[in-house]
Amino acid sequence: MFVKGAPRDFKIFVLYYLFSLEFIGYNQYHMWMFRTGIGFDSHRLCQGRRLIIGGVEISHEKGLMGHSDADVLCHAICDALLGAVADGDIGTHFPDTDPQWKGADSMLLLVAVVKRLHDKGWRVSNVDATIVAEQPKMAPYIPSMRTKLAKTLQVDLSAISIKAKTNEGMGFEGRGEGISTMAVVLVENRK
Ligand SMILES: [Zn+2]
Repeated sequence: MFVKGAPRDFKIFVLYYLFSLEFIGYNQYHMWMFRTGIGFDSHRLCQGRRLIIGGVEISHEKGLMGHSDADVLCHAICDALLGAVADGDIGTHFPDTDPQWKGADSMLLLVAVVKRLHDKGWRVSNVDATIVAEQPKMAPYIPSMRTKLAKTLQVDLSAISIKAKTNEGMGFEGRGEGISTMAVVLVENRK
């Protein structure tokens, strides 16, 4: 009798438990969704351009070539965010054939991307990025980059990780021909 009744009691318990969660609004935690996105970008170094990475101007004899300000970190994060919500890429929304983006401040592109995510109910959870550059040293500028990005992405400073490394003389980064960046993001939907 006990054995036969147990499954039924268990079902009642499960229904009661789920109803309780629904009643106290706890179910919202079960409806949270998470997505990850990956972004990569690279630009060629050239004379006569300012070097701007993560919205911060870096003192260097060369800058990155590009249609906008060629902020390689902002672009990688934009692509990671758009990728996380399957919303195309930076070229889709800000084509380099469009004159309005010529010399554009890439932090403004990031603002526009974050707005697209917010409009769909997503918010940024965290960012982890790596800048690959032989020169110059990024370390002195990373705190300012993190502060700017945290503000733009509307997250706590602890949610923004930026790392920098050389390529030990190998490849285009190693030869000083350009700088690349890769970024991974997590986004969450609270709806
Ligand atoms: Zn770019």
